[in-house]
Amino acid sequence: MALVLVLNSGSSSIKFQLVDPDQHATDDPFASGLVEQIGEPHGRITLKHNGDKHVLEAPIKDHSAGLDLAFNLMSDVGCGPTDVDLVAVGHRVVHGGILFSKPEIITDEIVDMIRDLIPLAPLHNPANIDGIDVARSLLPNIPHVAVFDTGFFNGMPPAAALYAIDAQTAINHGVRRYGFHGTSHEYVSQKVATLLGKPAEDINQITLHLGNGSSCAAIQGGQPIDTSMGMTPLAGLVMGTRSGDIDPGIVFHLHRTAGMSIDEIDTLLNKKSGVKGIAGVNDFRELRSMTDEGNQDAWLAYNIYIHQLRRYIGSYMIALGRVDAITFTAGVGENADFVRADALDNLQMYGIIIDPERNKIRSDQPRLISTDDSTVQVWVVPTNEELAIARYAKQLAS
Ligand code: ADP
Repeated sequence: MALVLVLNSGSSSIKFQLVDPDQHATDDPFASGLVEQIGEPHGRITLKHNGDKHVLEAPIKDHSAGLDLAFNLMSDVGCGPTDVDLVAVGHRVVHGGILFSKPEIITDEIVDMIRDLIPLAPLHNPANIDGIDVARSLLPNIPHVAVFDTGFFNGMPPAAALYAIDAQTAINHGVRRYGFHGTSHEYVSQKVATLLGKPAEDINQITLHLGNGSSCAAIQGGQPIDTSMGMTPLAGLVMGTRSGDIDPGIVFHLHRTAGMSIDEIDTLLNKKSGVKGIAGVNDFRELRSMTDEGNQDAWLAYNIYIHQLRRYIGSYMIALGRVDAITFTAGVGENADFVRADALDNLQMYGIIIDPERNKIRSDQPRLISTDDSTVQVWVVPTNEELAIARYAKQLAS
């Protein structure tokens, strides 16, 4: 079986999966794991393979040591990169700027281009480059492919992609809307086209990727025309710990009046805001039990979250003019029936009617949750970014 190693390298962690690109979206990967706490005194590697979980605890100096240990652990249980038919390594790269609109085979020039984009993603791209460098040196004879989180949104119309700020400043500093979660929005929207039995070019859709990080996209005939994340993944919907859209003047106010540094405001808006900032929790299962118990902060957080989501859905309906499908995906979108019901409540005059029974069904399969007479079909489609990356990687490598 041909397998692709999919790597998602963060600043202190590496997520990895060995994926069969021909598997179904809901099948477990051949193997999966996580290298955690890189650079800290106590590191940890977990690996799942054949239903068993293996754990290795050891100090992990850097990404190189981490991936080396992970490969050794994989070899110990018979799924090391040299034990399997590895055809490609797929790397998730967060920021492709305006340079990348599609996945690329990694060469030294491509790595240099990803490095040039570090100012746009100072936390993410360096970690992605570390992962690429280490994996290329450990697996030099396997094609490596970069898949960009921003790629799908690269061709968005200027009216949606550009901000109304001083044009020269924007150009000089790459200030524009790039959008993120592109692999997921593209994967899910193509799946919906298949489910509707129509070419993607013939349908208009709204995709709602609601996880810890959340974003939505308006997709016209297969091409995105707008998305909620912006120059960074902080913009748009209210998220687990991120604020989503706020008045930019708040940043100046907190700096000038509250004396907060730029780094403190960054942490506030990225890590201490969103649902967590108001309710103290960011997991929707906990949030739901708190609202069930009548916790007022939890209700407030939930209502702000839904209000913002409905704002975006409404504006994308106008942007698209005609909507054939609205699709929920990712951890919250796939599991929280109450979020789906409230996000699209009372929109029958726009042809959107959720069937409460269909919406309650729990499944890991794609499913229709609107009524038969809803003119807009509403779907839940599990996303699988690793599988999408594996498919691109195999395609480019062969
Ligand atoms: P990310 O990839 O952005 O970290 P995910 O797409 O995995 O996030 O989504 C994780 C979130 O999904 C959790 O924080 C939780 O809020 C939500 N979630 C997961 N399972 C459930 C569930 N059964 N019911 C409600 N929410 C859930």
